[in-house]
Amino acid sequence: MNKKISLRSLLRDDIQELIPYKPVLYPDVIKLDANENPFDFPDSIWQTITELLDPQSFTRYPDALAQDLISELSNIHGLTTNHIMVGNGSDELILNLMLTYGARNRVVIAVPTFSMYGIHARVAGANILEIPRNSDFDLAVDEILQAGKDASLVMLCSPNNPTGNSITTEQLEMILENSPGLVVVDQAYVEFGGTNFMPLVEKYSNLVILRTFSKAYGLAGLRVGYLFAQPDVINYLFKVKQPFNLNTFSQVAALAVLRHRDIFQKQVAKLVTERDKLYSEMQKISGVRVYPSDANYLMFSTNYLAKEVYNGLLSNNVLVRNFGEPELSRYLRVSVGQFEENQLFLQALEKVINTMGEKD
Ligand SMILES: *Cc1c(COP(=O)(O)O)cnc(C)c1O
Repeated sequence: MNKKISLRSLLRDDIQELIPYKPVLYPDVIKLDANENPFDFPDSIWQTITELLDPQSFTRYPDALAQDLISELSNIHGLTTNHIMVGNGSDELILNLMLTYGARNRVVIAVPTFSMYGIHARVAGANILEIPRNSDFDLAVDEILQAGKDASLVMLCSPNNPTGNSITTEQLEMILENSPGLVVVDQAYVEFGGTNFMPLVEKYSNLVILRTFSKAYGLAGLRVGYLFAQPDVINYLFKVKQPFNLNTFSQVAALAVLRHRDIFQKQVAKLVTERDKLYSEMQKISGVRVYPSDANYLMFSTNYLAKEVYNGLLSNNVLVRNFGEPELSRYLRVSVGQFEENQLFLQALEKVINTMGEKD
């Protein structure tokens, strides 16, 4: 090598400080860490994908406007196609929102919540203001209104990841009416519960709703997210959107999924029943406090450090989600799996908690 350069000195300070999000991959565990759809991918949908897919299209760039997918979403949700944008996962849409509207502006984030808002806001060079939720993780509406007065973006999540609770229409309308900037509501889990805020898109010019195919619709591996907003909001997003962000295969798979959405509605109903059973079983374990959830996961706390409970569960072959934030050092999140998976999780949790109790 010819010479030494200091890579660090080439980086912006805020990028130097950024801790990358590196999901862990463990083979052969009961995977309850990422809120994915736990069922086998339906054969009938695979059939539809192969029917819709033209391998000749692989030599050409994808449809930059994803017209077939967007018109299907438009029919289903009753909004015109210029109210809809798709992305390479909602992660990409979050980044594009930050780059378009958040850069060099104030971005308000109600925490604890999905970590990608903070990461993408930092990457975009936004000035982040975190507003902690109240006790029991209810949204601190007054504080958000105050902080939002000079913000370009207010980031909300409902149902909230990881806490599982939702915001009410009254809370959201209060924020929409009193915020000069955009209010983004991430509804990645709305299929599982909580209020669907779609009807408010036509009423408020500053509302953006994020949705995804990664959770209820079983396409986490193919990266498809979408958002609803007024056409003006979307037009500016086109300035930063990569033209070919969503590949041909993923566009076709998402379309096939929508055509078979009755299958997913049944799976969602099953998971909601499983969630409620899991909640009441976890309530029975002494030393565990579990929080009510409108989503396909449950947040819980114990008297022990989350890291220790996490490791205990992992040594029993169960993977759950542990968080980096110090405020969540006693909290974990478990995704609702299939019946057998949930049973194995419950057995493991009880065993781990009991073993730790003996050590006290
Ligand atoms: C999982 C998750 C997403 C990620 O969606 P992708 O479409 O897979 O990028 C977005 N928001 C929240 C709150 C999530 O939990």
